[in-house]
Amino acid sequence: MTHLASSKRYEDMIYRRCGKSGLLLPAVSLGLWHNFGGVDDYGRMKEILLRAFDLGVTHFDLANNYGPPPGSAESNLKHVLQSELNAYRDELIISTKAGYLMWDGPYGEWGSRKYLLASLDQSLKRMGLDYVDIFYSHRPDPDTPLEETMGALHTAVQQGKALYAGISNYTAEQSIRAIEILEKLGTPCLIHQPRYNMFDRWVEQDLLRVLKDRGVGCIPFSPLAQGLLSSRYLKGIPEDSRMGGKSIFLRKDALDAHTLVKIKALNDMAEQRGQSLAQMALAWILRQQEITSVLIGASSVAQLEDNLNSLKHLEFSRDELAYIDNILMN
Ligand code: NDP
Repeated sequence: MTHLASSKRYEDMIYRRCGKSGLLLPAVSLGLWHNFGGVDDYGRMKEILLRAFDLGVTHFDLANNYGPPPGSAESNLKHVLQSELNAYRDELIISTKAGYLMWDGPYGEWGSRKYLLASLDQSLKRMGLDYVDIFYSHRPDPDTPLEETMGALHTAVQQGKALYAGISNYTAEQSIRAIEILEKLGTPCLIHQPRYNMFDRWVEQDLLRVLKDRGVGCIPFSPLAQGLLSSRYLKGIPEDSRMGGKSIFLRKDALDAHTLVKIKALNDMAEQRGQSLAQMALAWILRQQEITSVLIGASSVAQLEDNLNSLKHLEFSRDELAYIDNILMN
């Protein structure tokens, strides 16, 4: 049976304009980097995706290589879209990216026109889609002229295979150049996807200001530092967690004694605000108007719901912000 979406799905979600574009994104978007691969439980991922949609999460973020194995998150999404959400394509914003290693040989990664356009064709096939809403250059390529990489994004949009173009992991300086090239080509840069969370604040230096000045949206990834900024590791390392062995991207040494002290102090503060730590960590990012959406991951419906409840309390007093800065700087 195909999914009958909740009639209340747009009641509680906040939608924010992406830069100066016409596109609104949900304040919380769902990424399929982990927990949606061929090695993961299909029933559970379907449940998470459908619950997300029912709660107003209209944006799912992918990349060519998400899995494992690479590509399988896109294939799994195809099954859920075709079997459950077929009627709702026009209510969904689906993004994918190319930049990291995807196939053998010199055309399987980085930023050449050859790689980006071939990869987008592969992604569309895997997802069973005619177009994606956003196509990203996943990382800057030091050896390919930026004009070529941005030119490939522009071509994807002109071909109707992507509606908008985005960049990810570009520095502030690289972003300025990319935004200017895209503007000249006539395909404005819609959005930037940088890592940003309480433990990694590099975007605050220049990038957020650059994006705001140029009217480009911002969707931070790993807003929970892959789960560190939640209750997940307060009492040890659960076996079924990312750090417990589900992923090579969150190593045990990320949870040293010093970091654990900070997590506990932040958790105490979140409790005082009447929030979970995950909710406070997301609200802390979303309190800034130049942020369009936070791009979360989730391994269960409970985590997803916990995270969406962050929207109920996005305000921070000056004292609270100073207190958080103090915890983070110690
Ligand atoms: P998060 O920082 O949100 O981490 C998600 C993980 O945190 C979950 O898998 C879960 O871990 C844990 N978690 C989430 N919510 C809770 C909660 N309420 N309570 C306790 N634990 C919780 O984001 P990700 O690192 O997953 O990144 C999100 C998305 O960003 C990706 O799916 C991808 O789309 C994008 N991304 C983009 C990158 C880029 O280069 N452009 C790079 C990385 C990510 P567990 O699985 O252990 O339960």
